[in-house]
Amino acid sequence: MSEAVCLKCGTLKHGPWVRCHRCGHLPADVVDKAKHEMTSTHCLSQADLKTIAAQIQSGHPRHFDPRQLERFVAALRTTRLDSRTKEQLVANVVRWAVILGAGGGVFWFFHWLTR
Ligand SMILES: [Zn+2]
Repeated sequence: MSEAVCLKCGTLKHGPWVRCHRCGHLPADVVDKAKHEMTSTHCLSQADLKTIAAQIQSGHPRHFDPRQLERFVAALRTTRLDSRTKEQLVANVVRWAVILGAGGGVFWFFHWLTR
């Protein structure tokens, strides 16, 4: 499992793009996602992550090399289509689950009414 640092509060979390369990920060835009990706075990050692986490917690935000960040953002932009397709798929599954769930509820309600 990958580990990452929340860049808002300096808490270690499982995966760069998951919601922080301490402050609730969720990397939403592509730049924020790139930054969190860069401060995860995908790019750094766990020892480095702990150092960065301690720095953020003591009030020193992480500084990113603009050129490196730019490269990451560009890489993410090219793969964004994939994650969006995946998100849409999840949204569709959830929507159908809600519709079917509601349909099932109505069915059982009428079943109960006409008993
Ligand atoms: Zn946080």
